[in-house]
Amino acid sequence: MSTEHDDGTVPSADLREEYAQLAEEVAKHQVAYHQQDAPLVSDAEYDELIHRLRSIEAEHPELASADSPTQQVGGSPSEAFAPVQHLQRMYSLEDVFSREELRTWYDRALASLEKMRPDEKVRWLVEVKIDGLAISLTYRNGVLERAATRGDGTTGEDVTHNVLTIGDIPQQLAGEGHPEVLEVRGEIFMPTAEFHALNERLREAREKEFANPRNAAAGSLRQKDPAKTAQRPLSMFVHGIGERSSLVLTSQHETYDQLAAWGLPVSPYTRILDSYEEIDEYLNEHQAKRHELVHEIDGVVIKVDDFGQQRALGHTSRVPRWAAAYKYPPEEKSTELLDIRVQV
Ligand code: NAD
Repeated sequence: MSTEHDDGTVPSADLREEYAQLAEEVAKHQVAYHQQDAPLVSDAEYDELIHRLRSIEAEHPELASADSPTQQVGGSPSEAFAPVQHLQRMYSLEDVFSREELRTWYDRALASLEKMRPDEKVRWLVEVKIDGLAISLTYRNGVLERAATRGDGTTGEDVTHNVLTIGDIPQQLAGEGHPEVLEVRGEIFMPTAEFHALNERLREAREKEFANPRNAAAGSLRQKDPAKTAQRPLSMFVHGIGERSSLVLTSQHETYDQLAAWGLPVSPYTRILDSYEEIDEYLNEHQAKRHELVHEIDGVVIKVDDFGQQRALGHTSRVPRWAAAYKYPPEEKSTELLDIRVQV
């Protein structure tokens, strides 16, 4: 006799069925988006599905397994590229969809830090969330040795030859004091103006246009032929760091200053803020001018600035606890995306 019922403690057969179908659907969208650069639905639609999945797992943790789509950082690396093991893991970001959720995250992070490190002031590094794709650049003694996509966070795809065609990314770091091994993390994007110009050219040539700048950047970077990537206007801004040998860095903002001094491109939109009220203002300001920036954004990333405090908060298997991505309300219409295929 089944003991299943709908009392919120044991999932009903209907809920199990819904969960299994939803998990399969979300996994399918992750492959289409991360591996094939060909989303089947809009981000807003995908976010709704994964949030339903997460809320079922929150109520019924016994349904969630380690291979649940909610536990994955992106997708498995494609076999079209050689695999690259990241020296330090690459993470995704905890996303929040309302100011209330962000306030809850902020209060919780602050309260934990006040408890663990009571004598320290907490400062927040706030930056726009670039709508592109993550890259890890490995420099050895200042020379670019390898470039890899995030992949599943542990293993990425080797896109070195393609990255060598991107003018913004130095092949040799400027200045001195480079560590033996340095993993720089950033976002490759297609500037909005370049994206529109590219689509205009494709339209004139009666070729398939790109759905959005993120899709254009991902499709352009993950080309088998670097000569094709070279024809695409790609840029990058740095947003993190992995392995750094014996280099000592104490904060996110010091890291950006150091990377900028070595010639790496750093976002002009980053600020250091002291309170939730200031963060709230930054969100309003950048929401109002989100289409006036060099690149498209889908939100704002809030990070604890100090590395000691970041370490104290730590990570889950998927995301750091010291950062959150506030997503702006969706603007895209799903119908526009349904007929979009990858442009290669
Ligand atoms: P995410 O894109 O929401 O956040 C994590 C990533 O943000 C990081 O890995 C990094 O690459 C990037 N990022 C941009 N600016 C940054 C900054 N300033 N600092 C730090 N990181 C920055 O998470 P995700 O796991 O890469 O993917 C989820 C996103 O992909 C969601 O927006 C989701 O809607 C979309 N998605 C869509 C579909 C679809 O079918 N449409 C499928 C899967 C995922």
